Amino acid sequence: MRLVDDFRNTELAKGLIDSIRRISTKHVRLMEFCGGHTVAIMKHGIRQLLPPTIEMLSGPGCPVCVTDNSDLDKAIALARLPEVTLTTFGDMLKVPGSRSSLQQARAEGADVRIVYSTLDALEIARQNPSRKVVFLGVGFETTAPTVAASVLQSEKEGIGNYYILSMHKLCPPVIRAILDSGEVRVSGLICPGHVSTVVGSEAWSFIAHEYCIPCVVSGFEPVDILQTIQMLVSQLEKGESRVEIAYRRGVTAQGNERALEIMYQVFEPCPARWRGMGTVPGSGLGLRPAYARFNAEAAFEFDPGPTVEPKGCICGEVLRAVKTPRDCKLFRTVCTPANPVGPCMVSSEGSCAAYYLYGAADD
Ligand code: SF4
Repeated sequence: MRLVDDFRNTELAKGLIDSIRRISTKHVRLMEFCGGHTVAIMKHGIRQLLPPTIEMLSGPGCPVCVTDNSDLDKAIALARLPEVTLTTFGDMLKVPGSRSSLQQARAEGADVRIVYSTLDALEIARQNPSRKVVFLGVGFETTAPTVAASVLQSEKEGIGNYYILSMHKLCPPVIRAILDSGEVRVSGLICPGHVSTVVGSEAWSFIAHEYCIPCVVSGFEPVDILQTIQMLVSQLEKGESRVEIAYRRGVTAQGNERALEIMYQVFEPCPARWRGMGTVPGSGLGLRPAYARFNAEAAFEFDPGPTVEPKGCICGEVLRAVKTPRDCKLFRTVCTPANPVGPCMVSSEGSCAAYYLYGAADD
């Protein structure tokens, strides 16, 4: 199968659904870690096609959603400094912090600019030597290598007005934290496709070996996801726990070694705060001492103020898969994509936005 149409082929999908229904006898709970998978599962109505023995859970794999309010407040306070130009991907703009958002700060005069890559941010720094240009680094292992590359390029060119506010996060440590918490029972894990292109499928082997939970790396089309579910159910029915790849057109066991090399040349693991989960050791990326001069948190003085969580919002519990968006009293009434209360409704990969746009009446 090469063309994307093959991965949306109705006959193939029907065959996989039949196979899943045939082999599934035990009640299992499958968690998709990645927000992209949550959206695809909701959009294609996959949950409704599965037998009642299979329960789907949505995990915390949306980098915008898991950014803690205290970190958002730092970005907003930094953006309000008169000498700073804050550059960010567009999906962070509307996310509400404790008292404001980057969009609101911009409306009030802060120099906040949307960029499509770190190259754009570097170019703004090159073109505006009198400004202090900060890139807001939010994302998982998929984006961190490109941010690291921009640091190396900035150093090579001697661009002295470029900084990073690093809120990057690493996925394997937070999956371990969720499993260790014992709050939610997970029988099988749909591993993130994009993150796995960088970290490789081997990054999940600890889940299969230490927790005896089968793992399958999945692509994002309906046939990819159904094949992944079929592979997970097959392992579970046989009592196996291995790491498999259902996304071979993008993922290898080792991942992208060059990207990882660049990422770890510039960054090192550090504790990170996750919305709803608190501080998870080793799950963030901080600049190494050799690149400390790029650290925006150390380079500027600013006061983010006290952290306040959005009233009534249960994003933290939704991200831990303890609750679903339907359990939130504000869902669809007060909180909508046009008037989002929490980040899970703002982000295009957020569970609440996916439930709002694609959820069936009983979801
Ligand atoms: S529906 Fe809105 S308020 Fe409720 S958890 Fe989701 S984002 Fe938060």
